[in-house]
Amino acid sequence: MSDTPLLSQINPPHRLLMGPGPINADPRVLRAMSSQLIGQYDPVMTGYMNEVMELYRGVFRTRNRWTMLVDGTSRAGIEAILVSAIRPGDKVLVPVFGRFGHLLCEIARRCRAEVHTIEAPWGEVFSADQIEDAIKRVKPRLLLTVQGDTSTTMLQPLEHLGEICRRYGALFYTDATASLGGNALDADAWGLDAVSAGLQKCLGGPSGSSPVTLSEAMVAAVRARKCVEQGIRTDAHEDGDEEMIWSNYFDLGMVMDYWGPERLNHHTEATSMLFAARECARIMLEEGMDNLIARHELHGRAMLNGIQGMGLEAFGDIANKMNNVLGVVIPSGVPGEEVRRRLLEDFHIEIGTSFGPLAGKIWRIGTMGYNARKDCVLQTLTALEAVLNRLGFATTQGAAMQAAWDTYEG
Ligand SMILES: *Cc1c(COP(=O)(O)O)cnc(C)c1O
Repeated sequence: MSDTPLLSQINPPHRLLMGPGPINADPRVLRAMSSQLIGQYDPVMTGYMNEVMELYRGVFRTRNRWTMLVDGTSRAGIEAILVSAIRPGDKVLVPVFGRFGHLLCEIARRCRAEVHTIEAPWGEVFSADQIEDAIKRVKPRLLLTVQGDTSTTMLQPLEHLGEICRRYGALFYTDATASLGGNALDADAWGLDAVSAGLQKCLGGPSGSSPVTLSEAMVAAVRARKCVEQGIRTDAHEDGDEEMIWSNYFDLGMVMDYWGPERLNHHTEATSMLFAARECARIMLEEGMDNLIARHELHGRAMLNGIQGMGLEAFGDIANKMNNVLGVVIPSGVPGEEVRRRLLEDFHIEIGTSFGPLAGKIWRIGTMGYNARKDCVLQTLTALEAVLNRLGFATTQGAAMQAAWDTYEG
């Protein structure tokens, strides 16, 4: 007899996830995920893989052939691109304006890159000129950026950086995990060589799959790396002679050979996650990327107006804020964690805390994906105001709701 207690079937409470991610998945995505499995080389499955490539070209706004999924959370996509592109000794430039910029530096260092940074105070972003000056000085092989850094809620403008990178011969990457779908991103028009994302922010799915897209120049950089003999390759293969990529799982050359017509065995595609990613893209493209972004802008603005209407202060440079996440300064004397606990326990609403230099200073409230909705915004504002009042912080009664309604009806 085992001593392991018999546990009941998993049955998580119904929460409204209004933090910086993850958020509630669209029920359509959950339904897609509950579909039965099929074999990884079943023509139906490889057909789905091809469909996913085509769907995500629409999401990233690109014609890049190599638009696919890396299995794992968003960090898997980031790491796959960095380990596949960076050769030991390569210079990389990272404009750091929050936690995820530091993450890019850390991964690049693990790839033995020579990492150069410029830093902006948390709550601000860089001008294109500041980045160009640094590129001139450093002459990096890669510019590694974060588009929306959820740690600070700021959105780095990227539209002029591709042209600058072209002029100085740098490859241009961005981590769009937090921003894609909620803010404009035009991979081809902006000259991006690589973009990675995840499902659990504006895409309306669970974490666990990372859509990526790679330009021809990025593919050439990856293909220049030596490929290990896999014992399954029968054809002549054009992989180059630069140092081998140190990761097998994240070797994008091998991932491309699996997603491409060769269908060379690598990992087993995470089938249920692919079903999820496919449904996320279908939902987004059905709405239209422009409408989706406009919806995030509207509900983000309603939340901002509501918060300010309540007498709270928004964090950072509002002009460069992501549409989908808002930093709210915790008023002095208000116990930030107690507020979050009461929201969760009494209302089943989750909002985000912060870390690093902002720990204990701001809450982060998301309005994204499936939860970029009027009812979610109004419920969150009402609950937050009630909890603040309960804890003795006086607000202008009802003003938050009126300000949010004004946004919708104004
Ligand atoms: C949320 C977020 C991630 C998340 O990475 P996971 O591996 O999916 O947890 C990555 N980058 C940015 C900018 C994010 O905001």
